[in-house]
Amino acid sequence: MNVKVEIDANSGFCFGVVFAIQMAEDILTEEGHLYCLGDIVHNDEEVARLRAKGLEIIDHDKLKTLHNVRVLIRAHGEPPETYKLALDNHIELVDASCPVVLKLQLRVREAYNSDEKIIIYGKHGHAEVKGLVGQTRGEAIVVESFEELDQHELPLKVKLFSQTTKRTKNLYALKDKLEKEGIEVDFNDTLCRQVSNRDIQLREFARRFDKIVFVAGLKSSNGKVLFDVCKENNPNTFFVSSKNEIIKEWFNENETIGICGATSTPQWQMEEVRNAILSL
Ligand code: SF4
Repeated sequence: MNVKVEIDANSGFCFGVVFAIQMAEDILTEEGHLYCLGDIVHNDEEVARLRAKGLEIIDHDKLKTLHNVRVLIRAHGEPPETYKLALDNHIELVDASCPVVLKLQLRVREAYNSDEKIIIYGKHGHAEVKGLVGQTRGEAIVVESFEELDQHELPLKVKLFSQTTKRTKNLYALKDKLEKEGIEVDFNDTLCRQVSNRDIQLREFARRFDKIVFVAGLKSSNGKVLFDVCKENNPNTFFVSSKNEIIKEWFNENETIGICGATSTPQWQMEEVRNAILSL
């Protein structure tokens, strides 16, 4: 098939993910085995690549059973209980928490220590959100959608934070909604610029092509956000989580095709997708 394909130069791992994977690979090269608490990145193919090198993904239940081992904390960060458990069980934590997340955890903790009522705009059960709620002894209210506001008796004054990878316009809409309900909002835009700046760059990128193929893991939060941005700016946007999901019928002769992805999408995966399209 005669098509022109370009990979977005701004897509791919953010510095937080690069740092965590580099740390894991350095240890795996030396030792051939490393525990990691949760998927190191929300991308099944990248996780499989690292598993093959000796990375063993564990959950919190398994962590409780381990003693005298080394465990990697991924970029999403962890709540204080994890650090306490590690101390109790003589577990050495290799802490690859992203500095942006650590700074946000600190801000949430300081707000909690000042007795402020905290709302976190984020996804229920997401590792980063658990790490943030953990700074408040579980007291922060997590809001994922407007409808959920009705489920809580909200105070007259709140401090609003966001999970780093949520969508800018939704966060600002939540702030407006709270204010319309008469709540005084101490607003903190804690979105990660690695994601929100890509939002702007992606709009331009998506408009330049006949078709867009967005590559990301199904569990990636920012993957969903950035895919929506592409789709809004180019309705001919397709989502794939591996090269095997490419469908020939999506494309026509002589079209231009842009490939882009999330902050958890490895460059090699976008290259595989490009090669798969070029060999259709
Ligand atoms: S998206 Fe931002 S906050 Fe999350 S790991 Fe990457 S750099 Fe850190």
